[in-house]
Amino acid sequence: MLARPRARRLVESPERASQAIDWRELAECRGWTEKGVDPWFPQNLSDPTAYDVAARICACCPVAQQCLDAAMAVEGAIHGRQRSGMFGGLTPEQRYALYRRRGRERSQDKDVA
Ligand code: SF4
Repeated sequence: MLARPRARRLVESPERASQAIDWRELAECRGWTEKGVDPWFPQNLSDPTAYDVAARICACCPVAQQCLDAAMAVEGAIHGRQRSGMFGGLTPEQRYALYRRRGRERSQDKDVA
């Protein structure tokens, strides 16, 4: 059984389809899980190449930015280790790093203003 974290459900959930997320129709990963293959949620996370296949597919995805934005919105401040899967071409750790960097940038903007 493949993991279905909530961010993944955002990509595949028909309930959310009415929220102007037509971008999902263009996702490169669309239909992969039906084949029983899900390189976006690798089983062996200790393998340094675990996300390589997903990363290559995401790199060609025309809606990678929308995917990343959706995942970041859903995950919010969830700690890096509690995130899972690859979205927008970023691993959970990379998304958490992006979240923290954006937070620092927001703080710096407030300090300047
Ligand atoms: S960026 Fe990757 S995970 Fe996101 S929709 Fe595209 S292929 Fe799927």
